[in-house]
Amino acid sequence: MGMIKDIVEGGWSLIAGMWVTIRRIYRPVVTVQYPRKYLDMSPAYRGHIEFEQFPETGSHNCVACGTCMRFCPTNVIKVQGEKTHTHSEKRASLYFIDFSHCSLCGLCVANCPTQTLKFSGEYDLAYYSRWDGVVDLIQRLEESA
Ligand code: SF4
Ligand code: SF4
Repeated sequence: MGMIKDIVEGGWSLIAGMWVTIRRIYRPVVTVQYPRKYLDMSPAYRGHIEFEQFPETGSHNCVACGTCMRFCPTNVIKVQGEKTHTHSEKRASLYFIDFSHCSLCGLCVANCPTQTLKFSGEYDLAYYSRWDGVVDLIQRLEESA
């Protein structure tokens, strides 16, 4: 009697499983073959911060004021700037963020007076060393140009 019950339950389980497969077989695919294919992330997604590229200059607009650095609650931003001429505005010559300690609070992005910061769409961020989480924003911008 127990064996018949097992056969009936097993058969029913098989049919139920196959029914789910058959129902979904012609529906649009919602997964991607990662890492061969990448998803386009929603504009609301927050990867690490990065520089906005302005079409007028083809570059960032960071004046190295240090506001983002002062607002950052986890102190993960390092920025330095220099003037190219005596009376010119400062430009960031170095900008690093240690993303491994970033809480993605958004204070740096919200308070940047030149709107040069944004969140990237990067999502496959895994590291072998804690130092791999340090991102050079100037280098990233130059490489993307
Ligand atoms: S990113 Fe914005 S807030 Fe930060 S130093 Fe540059 S201009 Fe100032
Ligand atoms: S999002 Fe917040 S924690 Fe991350 S770098 Fe900006 S201010 Fe710092």
